[in-house]
Amino acid sequence: MPPPNVTAAWCRKKASCKWCKKDITLATPMITVFFWNKGNDAKRTWNSKLYYHMQCWMDQAMDYLNTHPYHARGGKRGPNKLASALNVEQKVARLKLIRRKNYLDYKLRGLSDTPDTALDIAMIEKEQSELIAKILDIGGIPKSWLVKLM
Ligand SMILES: [Zn+2]
Repeated sequence: MPPPNVTAAWCRKKASCKWCKKDITLATPMITVFFWNKGNDAKRTWNSKLYYHMQCWMDQAMDYLNTHPYHARGGKRGPNKLASALNVEQKVARLKLIRRKNYLDYKLRGLSDTPDTALDIAMIEKEQSELIAKILDIGGIPKSWLVKLM
């Protein structure tokens, strides 16, 4: 089966979240997972779409990772082995992502949970989930981020 397409989008029609089973509200960020299955002569081609709240997508991803713990390749052990294996360019990029995340955390703390800031909060959370996806490729998610995700 080819890998699914995962996209972030604004919810345009009411959908049910695969993770929490609750409705996804119109005009809020959502994750759409599109599975494409090519059929053969005996079987018809079909595809399917799954929907998640932005937070639920992260929850299910962390749930998956927690049940599939990290194993270093090449037998190296220890928390910073992976980060020290990065080249200078990657380390700079990683630091930039961490700084951006810290800034967004700071901004989030400043926004209260009122209706007129709901969109701002959603945008910040969307960017944070993008940062998490990016940092996965360059050294993995820092431990301090995981604490906040739980
Ligand atoms: Zn949900």
